[in-house]
Amino acid sequence: MPLPPTVLRRRVRIRLRGIVQGVGFRPFVHNLAWELKLGGYVLNSSAGLVAEVEGDPAALERFIQAVTQQPPPLAWVQEAECSELDALGEESFAIRPSATATGEFALISPDVATCADCRGDVADLAGRRFGYPFTNCTNCGPRYTIIRDIPYDRPKTTMAGFAMCAACRAEYEDPRNRRFHAQPNACPECGPTLWGGPPGLPLEQARLRLTAGEILAIKGLGGFHLACDARNESAVRRLRERKRRSDKPFALMARDLAAIAEVCEVSDADRAALTSPRSPIVILPRKAEAALPEAIAPGNRTIGIMLPYTPLHHLLFADAPYGLLVMTSGNLSEEPIVVSNGEAQQRLAGVADWFLLHNRDIYMRVDDSVVRTFEGAERVLRRSRGYAPLTMDLGRAVPELLACGGELKNALCLTKGRHAILSQHIGDLENYETLVFFEETLANLKRLFRVEPHAVAYDLHPLYLSTRYALDIPNLPKVGVQHHHAHIASCMAENGLSGQVIGVAFDGSGYGPDGAIWGGEFLVAGYAGFERRAHLRYIPLAGGDAAVREPWRAALGYLVDSGAGAFACQFVPEERVRIVRRMIEKGVNTVRTSSCGRLFDAVAAIVGLRQAVTFEGQAAIELEMAAQDGVAKRYPFEIEGDGPWQLDFRPVIECIVRETAAGVPQGVISAKFHNTLADAIVETCRRIRGETKLARVCLSGGTFQNMRLLTTAAPALRAAGFQVVLHAKVPPNDGGIALGQAAIAAELLK
Ligand code: ZN
Ligand code: ZN
Ligand code: FE
Repeated sequence: MPLPPTVLRRRVRIRLRGIVQGVGFRPFVHNLAWELKLGGYVLNSSAGLVAEVEGDPAALERFIQAVTQQPPPLAWVQEAECSELDALGEESFAIRPSATATGEFALISPDVATCADCRGDVADLAGRRFGYPFTNCTNCGPRYTIIRDIPYDRPKTTMAGFAMCAACRAEYEDPRNRRFHAQPNACPECGPTLWGGPPGLPLEQARLRLTAGEILAIKGLGGFHLACDARNESAVRRLRERKRRSDKPFALMARDLAAIAEVCEVSDADRAALTSPRSPIVILPRKAEAALPEAIAPGNRTIGIMLPYTPLHHLLFADAPYGLLVMTSGNLSEEPIVVSNGEAQQRLAGVADWFLLHNRDIYMRVDDSVVRTFEGAERVLRRSRGYAPLTMDLGRAVPELLACGGELKNALCLTKGRHAILSQHIGDLENYETLVFFEETLANLKRLFRVEPHAVAYDLHPLYLSTRYALDIPNLPKVGVQHHHAHIASCMAENGLSGQVIGVAFDGSGYGPDGAIWGGEFLVAGYAGFERRAHLRYIPLAGGDAAVREPWRAALGYLVDSGAGAFACQFVPEERVRIVRRMIEKGVNTVRTSSCGRLFDAVAAIVGLRQAVTFEGQAAIELEMAAQDGVAKRYPFEIEGDGPWQLDFRPVIECIVRETAAGVPQGVISAKFHNTLADAIVETCRRIRGETKLARVCLSGGTFQNMRLLTTAAPALRAAGFQVVLHAKVPPNDGGIALGQAAIAAELLK
């Protein structure tokens, strides 16, 4: 049959950018074209997805509409570009091999939790993937953790060494199949396997050993986990001892939502977060009646919990007697998460009783992400698996940059075009292993996104490893960024703000240009710069790192500052107090600080909650947890000086000392203290608004992980007529610093 005259046909080229690879986009386009009887082709390029389509103009319109408006579930079309071509008379539609163009890049999908269809396959007794721990499809499975380079095709992943069997190959090549071009497609015949026999055997072993109270090292998606039965008190305690993990809470994995509801309160927003394809750890309020070992999260009223997100996890729970497992990162104290079998057997030998290993390599280390919900929205606290390497839109194209981030909870950030590419959580840059992880991540992201930085942004703290790394890079312009300016810029960039805001940056510490340690800061800030309008009054803090480990030193600083007589601290030997007091008076190893974290420390120490901590923020968390509900009272404080104003909390501290001596309960004091701090935030912002007319307030910094403070301060600010801007996709803690540094450097280099 002759073709209709070409005037009745139209041909267009469509280029799509965004998350369009590894999410089933090509089969979607292919099937759509067949349905609409359109000819042409589709392919992955390193820039995204390219299709040429021709046929009936009305069908073509419907095609364009569907591709841009109703893409596959995991896809995200950021940009669509359409251009007209001459019709060629092409009637059939094909998927063509990928094309690479130099300098171009496509966005890479994060790892995706096992979908319902694949869970069905794994549970299907008659199916060929029954019990197969590496089942995946176009809608789920490993992505970022296995991709070595783009375009995203099997040879460029750690699945390269597995040749597909005939059955898998047929699925892979059938555009109507759910596994069409699913790069990690595999089955028991041809894919990765567990070590130690047929899939059922090691799994059965693992279940039996977990049930018996053993600690297992389990190879996961982005690294190893250390696991044990969460209800087994002695197993949990043993794990804590062997891991040398201070008192940091362990995360749990639950069989299903019902198992979570047994131990935690779960809101609708929490349920949405738990069951999302990102499958993060969600911080939930623990039910009072939940009988769980104290060693899971000592002194904490919340629990971090997640659902199984790989077939291997689902199989670990299958008909096992336990419904909750501890699933903590497989590492030693503060080192990066372990990814290779050999590394695990070596480093975790003293921790794990047994190893559940497999032969699918993890290319990129990626920890579990941590979120909590607030005001109905998910708020990311640790941005890693399921989120990285999703990019953020900077609103305009900027030069290619590297921002090295901070010291604790480090993540780095690259920019490319309009994209800010924030890395996964790297960790505390305090040891060589973590620095190596930083370098691995940087090299990988530079390659995947084809970034060659023209400038480097860094924190002003001269001793941060990230700062030293930045300054050691030869031949590139460097941009030093003040820590709290970066916090506020991060909050602005995430929310697409420009202009100026009132920035409240509260955290443990950040280097101040005046040589003091800042951390209770009110800035008037834009990307180009900031003015410090107010801060917590400086107190003397003695002892360097010890001052952070021993909260009573902050208390002593406050007491010396307020001229109070003897520090009636019944919890610390008198002799030590005397020595530190002398250090303060002589200015030996003593810094001045406006840190809000130290203010929390001081209060926690004075009320007798805690004199020494095993991880950053522990005293503040315990003070938050202690706060009683239904207390409306507050303490007096003062705002003084003329520019920058100083928030004088000495009256607060004096009241707390008095009340503690009078036997007022810790819970009441804590609640009143939180109320007071929220008041101080509102009052200071009000004064700044009076001078600047600014009414947008960005809240950032690690202190705003404190839910008690946030739930008091945010509504109070709104009631006072402010627009409150919070973090959601980016952590308020130092994990968000690099994004702020990048946004600031981009502005300064304009
Ligand atoms: Zn699936
Ligand atoms: Zn196969
Ligand atoms: Fe900070």
